[in-house]
Amino acid sequence: MDEKAVVLIVDDANINVRALEHILKGDYQVKMATGGMEALACIAKDPKLDLILLDVSMPDIGGYDLCRRLKSDPKTADIPIIFLTGKDSSADEEHGLSLGAVDYITKPIRPLIVKARIKTHVTLKRQYDLLRAMATRDALTGLHNRHYLSDALKEKISYAMHHRLPLSLMIIDIDHFKRINDTYGHLVGDHVLTAVAQILLEHVRQEDIAARFGGEEFVIVLDNCSVHDACVKAEIIRQMIENLYPEGIRVSASFGVVQLSDHLDKPAKLLKHADTALYKAKESGRNKVVVCREKLKNTL
Ligand code: GH3
Ligand code: MG
Ligand code: MG
Repeated sequence: MDEKAVVLIVDDANINVRALEHILKGDYQVKMATGGMEALACIAKDPKLDLILLDVSMPDIGGYDLCRRLKSDPKTADIPIIFLTGKDSSADEEHGLSLGAVDYITKPIRPLIVKARIKTHVTLKRQYDLLRAMATRDALTGLHNRHYLSDALKEKISYAMHHRLPLSLMIIDIDHFKRINDTYGHLVGDHVLTAVAQILLEHVRQEDIAARFGGEEFVIVLDNCSVHDACVKAEIIRQMIENLYPEGIRVSASFGVVQLSDHLDKPAKLLKHADTALYKAKESGRNKVVVCREKLKNTL
């Protein structure tokens, strides 16, 4: 593990919090909350937690309620929760585990056993995060991969259609990339791809998706963004790439931009029309942004 894992201790008895902190602070970055509300505020501020140690009986929000809430929110559902409680009946333990907690430890605690169990679950969480990142990211550029894009795009389209919000998509294809490979070699080609991907990452908002679609093709999905705004962004990115000169090589890219509409309401249709616009950009000289004008009247 590079960085220390982050563990949040939630217990209304300050003395318990302090005792646990003392046990854990050498191995973990420890955060503390003395109630359910404080825990929620702490998680909202920084949802990147590796484990939560959760008391059950607390005056504001009880541990079971808090666990239920966290497990039903996709942003926090994957944080492992261990109940640490004085409630030691089998029924309580069963209930706690049925809510999705990974473990249930009864007080009084035995520090070495608590530490060992925490270590197991933090290790599992880290391995899970790594596997998920490998499954959803492109290894060369760090952008999302095509597999992730197809799932996420489906979800974004249904959300945008339901809420009648605009959504735009652009396909970006590096111009004459084969020549770069042929002239400078595949490794230099890889560096160019990484440098271009970095530009894309820097220009998307957190809620957007930047993905590597194929060899030297990328897709950006822009949430809550009209085709006009998407074109403005595409033009900025186009200029950035043109002025990038990765490895001292002049690189340019062509763009096809499309907006979600009642007619273009499926991932395959959006991608197909963006690709058609991209083809027009290529055909008419490359290094340009072309928008798919088809059915624009019916955009959301
Ligand atoms: P156009 O302007 O029409 O897009 O021409 P192009 O040369 O960019 O397009 P083409 O599809 O002919 O070539 C794409 C090249 O991208 C061919 C392939 O070898 C290369 N490529 C695909 N994946 C990778 C990769 O991961 N690394 C490197 N270095 N090259 C790759
Ligand atoms: Mg190309
Ligand atoms: Mg291509």
